[in-house]
Amino acid sequence: MNPQSRPTGRVSLVGAGPGDPELMTRKAWARLMQAELVLVDELVDRRILAELPAHTRVLQVGKRGGCASTEQGFIHGLMIRSARQGLRVVRLKGGDPFIFGRGGEEMDALQAAGIEVEVINGLSAGLAGPSSVGIAVTDRRCAPGVALVTGHNGEGGRAPDWAALARSGLTLVIYMGVSRCAEIVAALMAGGLGADTPAAVVCAAHTPQQRQAWSSLAALPSLLAAQGLGSPAVLVIGEVAGMAAARQLLTGARDGREDRAKDPAEQELRRRAQAPCGR
Ligand code: SAH
Repeated sequence: MNPQSRPTGRVSLVGAGPGDPELMTRKAWARLMQAELVLVDELVDRRILAELPAHTRVLQVGKRGGCASTEQGFIHGLMIRSARQGLRVVRLKGGDPFIFGRGGEEMDALQAAGIEVEVINGLSAGLAGPSSVGIAVTDRRCAPGVALVTGHNGEGGRAPDWAALARSGLTLVIYMGVSRCAEIVAALMAGGLGADTPAAVVCAAHTPQQRQAWSSLAALPSLLAAQGLGSPAVLVIGEVAGMAAARQLLTGARDGREDRAKDPAEQELRRRAQAPCGR
């Protein structure tokens, strides 16, 4: 085709899911295989990138330090220029592009520039992480809904109303909450959420590095410190975490985990399991 007549390209905002390449949708894989330029976030699993065709141009545009807003502007400009050159661009993001992924901002910028843009959902870590340890984030017996919230207040973003969340009766799934865990827990308790509310943390869900731990709300910050649990991680707070602990215990008993009954982590799991659903 004459390059002059090459049509304007398209940008696909694609969710890579939490880690395991098998959790990515078929549509996401199809766009990736056809892409000429792939702009990749830091959290995207390396196993996915390893499957891209050798000729695909891949650029890492993760945000490490620096001025995040300038960098975001740079990413917008790059996507717009590339699409105008007629390239098929995939903007690949960990989890879902519209859950704490700046997908909305990118869509606005692309549409304002007249670029065709589509969104292909991915499995968000806040859903896939809890389920990987048996936590059903909604349960009609005790959790009428779930709130996905950020624990990070940076860059002029609006902070969650922790007191309202404490009263909501919803399961709370907190992204980017590890470094501010102590403040978040204090705010939730000040808002009236019980110190003994079950809690869990799931780190690097669906990757070979996955780790998880169970706790009460009050003990969550010290648990993270004691076990060296860090980012990326989701914090899960609510009765459903206690119910999952009970389920894990049953499975553990079948798997011969009785041998580890003296292990502190195992003891915490047992304690958590004692009052599922606040009963
Ligand atoms: N768009 C992503 C979220 C990006 S914000 C999504 O939908 O999942 C980055 C935060 O997501 C991390 O700080 C962490 O809280 C969470 N996260 C991302 N991948 C994760 C994983 N594999 N396990 C646990 N948490 C993860």
